[in-house]
Amino acid sequence: MISNIMGVSGVEHIGIAVRELDQAIRLYEKILGVKCYKQEIVPEQKVRTAFFMAGNTKIELLESTDPEGPIGKFIEKRGEGIHHIAFLVKDIDEQLTYYEGEGIGLIDKKPRKGAEGLDIAFLHPKSTNGALIEVCDEKKE
Ligand code: ZN
Repeated sequence: MISNIMGVSGVEHIGIAVRELDQAIRLYEKILGVKCYKQEIVPEQKVRTAFFMAGNTKIELLESTDPEGPIGKFIEKRGEGIHHIAFLVKDIDEQLTYYEGEGIGLIDKKPRKGAEGLDIAFLHPKSTNGALIEVCDEKKE
């Protein structure tokens, strides 16, 4: 039974892995026609990020700060490109409990802080037909 309570309410952002953030920022400013509104280093994820608003959805560019980090490894294996899709959820704790109950593998069993101070968690791509899916709690702290 799919419960409405567990439905996602939108795409929070799409993450794109890039080799050189500064070059990618200049390019995506042209593609999207908007300025990058924020850059942030997330040390736990070993990434430097840049955000854009594309209508109601954000685009997050991710550059690795360490070849051993998740983005460094991703680019090494698969090259640059779309890395993950982040869905907004009403209550991330309930959502993760629901996924576990459905047998969907989780990289993060408990939410953690992602960029922009949001509580986030990643699902395991082995459980999602190869797409890396992030869920973001709607509530900002
Ligand atoms: Zn993300």
